Amino acid sequence: MPSPKITSEQIAFDQQHIWHPYSSMINPPPAYPVVAAKGVRLELADGRELIDGMASWWSVIHGYGHPELNAAAHAQIDRMSHVMFGGITHEPAIELAQRLVEMTPEGLDKVFIADSGSVAVEVAIKMAIQYWHAKGLPAKHRLLTIRSGYHGDTFGAMSVCDPVGGMHEIFTGVLPQQFFAPRPEIPFDGDWDYSDISALERLLAEEHSHIAALILEPIVQGAGGMRFYHPEYLKRARALCDEYGVLLIADEVATGFGRTGKLFACEHAGITPDILCVGKALTGGYMTLAATLTRSDIGETISAGGAGCFMHGPTFMANPLACAVAATSLRLLQEGDWAGNVARIERGLKAGLAPAAELAGVAEVRCLGAIGVVEMQAPVNTVSIQKEFVAEGIWIRPFGKLVYVMPPYVMSDEDLATLTSAMVRVLARV
Ligand code: PLP
Repeated sequence: MPSPKITSEQIAFDQQHIWHPYSSMINPPPAYPVVAAKGVRLELADGRELIDGMASWWSVIHGYGHPELNAAAHAQIDRMSHVMFGGITHEPAIELAQRLVEMTPEGLDKVFIADSGSVAVEVAIKMAIQYWHAKGLPAKHRLLTIRSGYHGDTFGAMSVCDPVGGMHEIFTGVLPQQFFAPRPEIPFDGDWDYSDISALERLLAEEHSHIAALILEPIVQGAGGMRFYHPEYLKRARALCDEYGVLLIADEVATGFGRTGKLFACEHAGITPDILCVGKALTGGYMTLAATLTRSDIGETISAGGAGCFMHGPTFMANPLACAVAATSLRLLQEGDWAGNVARIERGLKAGLAPAAELAGVAEVRCLGAIGVVEMQAPVNTVSIQKEFVAEGIWIRPFGKLVYVMPPYVMSDEDLATLTSAMVRVLARV
């Protein structure tokens, strides 16, 4: 099938009328028109192909246009694209939930299917608050989190993003006031020292009677700084939550489904959260869908509370089309060699990005699983650096000081080498 074209009038309309993520309506930077995507490549309207280093923000793990995901979408759309979930159920949702319960850490067996990562976080927060309310402890309604976190753009999620670097600073006075502990400083493979978590412990000791849950991104803090912290921090955080009677919410929207080298990043620390959020790669990046899982006793406590139910139910909850694709994406993961591929990509990223560490202006290069980060000493100019990446035939979207990639797991060694060498060449020039 020939790719559709985009006219210059359409591009002009886009610039004048359509908001892109975190974009301005005054002189917005140009958005690159993509007309098709296949495997690890994006096709631009002018026919150029770009190797995609972003996997459309962590999500396209199996590559674009995967035949089995396409087939699942086609089969489901011919049967039924959508039906309400209130009072109705369907096989795609059941299969998806079965696979999620099977794959996620032991004991998380109650599944809420949500619309997006941000909504999954809202749902997790509401679960924690409803849980304590049902237990007769309504004062436990605030959240504790760690600085440099990012959990999404809706209000509850914004309230637990880093209050300064988390992109939502101007909403500070409007958002619910939460508790913030310093971010973990000891890197993933550093030498553990308990002092890294002592401030968190102090906050728990002082404020636990007001705290419903500790929410954090396990191991990898994504949009808040692409930082990889020590598994022992997570292990101790789990133990402290138990000690002080606080639920632990693990936001694995970005890290879930193999990205960090474990199926879920919590596995690096061998812990099970009380509530788990997943999204992004859940549908293999085909459409928006997310989920929040919790333990049976939490689900039952919430349901035995005054409300008699969990108070959330969006119109498009468990959309069958998205669930069918997600169930297939999880089957591909379960049956395929994601672990071998992620380990292979980690080796490729480490080798390919190592020369960047020698460049002027580079502060640090770090890789974990299928995530490669070059942290610069100063913020880059996203528009001009992106032009250079595109000229080199690669798609990377930096933010601030961070130039990073998280390729689809199916990227070949050759394409990965092309991606990293082009990245290093551009960084050497800027
Ligand atoms: N949580 C984490 C850790 C994320 O990285 C993101 C998105 O980047 C979200 C939540 C929000 O997900 P969504 O953009 O699908 O709402």
